[in-house]
Amino acid sequence: MAREEPQRSCLGCREVKAKKELLRFVLAPDRTLVPDLLGKLPGRGAYTCIRKSCLAAAVSKSRFTRALREEVRCGAPAELIALVATRMEERIGGYLALANKAGKAVSGGDGVIETLMKRAPGIICVATDISPGIGQKVIGLAVRMNVDHFSLFDKERLGAIVGKGLRSAVVIERGGFSDALKIEMEKYRNFFEGGTHAT
Ligand SMILES: [Zn+2]
Repeated sequence: MAREEPQRSCLGCREVKAKKELLRFVLAPDRTLVPDLLGKLPGRGAYTCIRKSCLAAAVSKSRFTRALREEVRCGAPAELIALVATRMEERIGGYLALANKAGKAVSGGDGVIETLMKRAPGIICVATDISPGIGQKVIGLAVRMNVDHFSLFDKERLGAIVGKGLRSAVVIERGGFSDALKIEMEKYRNFFEGGTHAT
């Protein structure tokens, strides 16, 4: 019989969910909160939904202090929200870099368009500052080929992730990396609830 998944309740909305569906936080020695995206850091954990409104509620109602049974140095909710967003972005960037190292990525506007004309890859990351002409073409092809796409990182950062100069888009072939990226992007979008986080 399958073991029951460990569950925890969100400090914001109090809903009980499986641990893996929640964000875990631990306390650093300086008493600040550390988002533990992989759920592996030692120490007592405190949890919220992967949703910025739950995180903000937990901070503004001082619930981390009670849950961790220690004094917590917590700034404004926006600071912790920004920190979580940064960690999630780093994780997404990490998967793009790994996929590239494994030879599963094609980058650059022309390469991406050429790939999309031939076949449907797993997922596409479009730079936030892609030129409108190339952007329309890439996204139009993605929609036509039924390929997921997301917009994150500017051309400079996207290029650095794949070890190149400026890159306006990166496609990741179907497989483990694209599956992981889809999951991470869904979490990232849920965190902002389709909100207006400028990236
Ligand atoms: Zn919640």
